[in-house]
Amino acid sequence: MGFCYCNSCRHWSGAQVNGFTLWPRSALTILKRAENVATYSRSGRSLRHWCTACGGQLFSELPALTLVDVYAPLIPSLKFEPAVHVHYQETVLPMKDGLPKLKDLPEELGGSGSMLPD
Ligand SMILES: [Zn+2]
Repeated sequence: MGFCYCNSCRHWSGAQVNGFTLWPRSALTILKRAENVATYSRSGRSLRHWCTACGGQLFSELPALTLVDVYAPLIPSLKFEPAVHVHYQETVLPMKDGLPKLKDLPEELGGSGSMLPD
């Protein structure tokens, strides 16, 4: 889990930074009101899901990685302990917290793996 600063997340979340949690896609099951979950593919790399009843964002699937990003505030039982900042080159809200700041994404997720200073 960590913070993402990419332009796409900021526009989607309506916030300066997005708290993300990544899970295997198989770990997510919609238990109730699945008929209210709508999907939009902005880039083809991710599928955004939101609630048509309240308009709230729910999660984004990353099909190529078989991962799902469930927005941290939507898991009230989760103790949010960020470990990394990603897409920090796009930050509009710099944070000096000593955590690693990746320019984009880790290499294993298709990024450069390059780090930026705190
Ligand atoms: Zn992002």
